[in-house]
Amino acid sequence: MPAYLDYAATTPLDERVLERMLPYLEQDFGNPSSIHAWGQRADWAVEEARERVADGLGCRPEEVIFTSGGSESDNLALRGAAFAARENRGANHLLISPVEHDAVSQTAIDLAARHAFELEWLPVDNLGRVDPDDLRKTIRSDTALISVIYGNNEIGTVNPIPELAAIARERGVTFHSDALQAPCQLPTRVGDLGVDLLSIGAHKFYGPKGVGVLFVRNGSQLLPIQTGGPQERGLRAGTHNVPLIVGLSVAHEIALARQETDASRFRMLRDLIIDEVLKRVPGARLTGHRVDRLPNNASFVIQGIDGNSLLAALDLAGFACSSGSACKTGDPEPSKVLLALGMETELALGSLRVTVGRQTTEAEVGEFLEALQEAVVGFRSPVADAS
Ligand SMILES: *Cc1c(COP(=O)(O)O)cnc(C)c1O
Repeated sequence: MPAYLDYAATTPLDERVLERMLPYLEQDFGNPSSIHAWGQRADWAVEEARERVADGLGCRPEEVIFTSGGSESDNLALRGAAFAARENRGANHLLISPVEHDAVSQTAIDLAARHAFELEWLPVDNLGRVDPDDLRKTIRSDTALISVIYGNNEIGTVNPIPELAAIARERGVTFHSDALQAPCQLPTRVGDLGVDLLSIGAHKFYGPKGVGVLFVRNGSQLLPIQTGGPQERGLRAGTHNVPLIVGLSVAHEIALARQETDASRFRMLRDLIIDEVLKRVPGARLTGHRVDRLPNNASFVIQGIDGNSLLAALDLAGFACSSGSACKTGDPEPSKVLLALGMETELALGSLRVTVGRQTTEAEVGEFLEALQEAVVGFRSPVADAS
């Protein structure tokens, strides 16, 4: 029986979400910016969606900015806050964790390379955590922005966002967190997190692809990166994608309603995978924190195994996993996240990420473990070992 075990890359669309989207793909096609009845119906749907998301995040509706997804939310957060801080107070220093998704790290690198920002990578420990004391030591009066990922998409480690955000707040520096992996399994009330900017994206919580949210705390200084019409408080021009926005809001509501039940089921399956892999696969090592990790993420490095070949063998056997970030598939470069933990290149090339979701069953996990064991034995046959 084949099984999808790559829910960190993307999740299937919830049926109820699709149902609520359909009218806006069919008869209710109006442009929310138009003043006639068609436009009003569409506008009403967008504003209702905004309220639904605001309810879930514990913020005001006007603090919810709809975007085209996680990557755009991250770009708007980093570019928007960096350029605003430079314009308003001459701040030019960016503090970014080295274990970010490419949507954050490549944006920070671009801001440094093309726009003369000074980029400093925050230290992380070998589990991928930023220590609040290190932030206290590196933050400066000319720091424009701090960005630290919440639940790590590759290694699962959860960062102490409330502590980190409190330090930024004390010093008056804008704090962003990429929370793409969070909504189904970690608390995301923005008041409790204390962040100024938070990115989420619907396809990571059983919503449609191509739509996300950037939470922008009232009073945060942000410049638009996409100019044009006045949509989204002038921060993100362009006709609203009504069906996707409605879909995101419904998927978010469902994700929060079942967060506790989902998270505890994910945790049970994850722990089963971690325990069994460490027991059955010689040379396997857990990456990331054992306890403070995303409930659905089991990630490893396996000594002497090439991660991409292992993924191909598992795929042939019918199992979908990843070597880390989905964008890295087929790329022979080791994961930058694993290297940032201080891991040697050779070991980092043996990475395997297994992420579970709502459709995952214990039977699937059992069959996956068998297939994994068989694949690893195959790579370690006496012939392969003879060299
Ligand atoms: C998926 C993901 C992104 C990118 O989101 P898209 O909606 O696919 O652009 C960014 N950060 C993290 C942590 C992710 O998991």
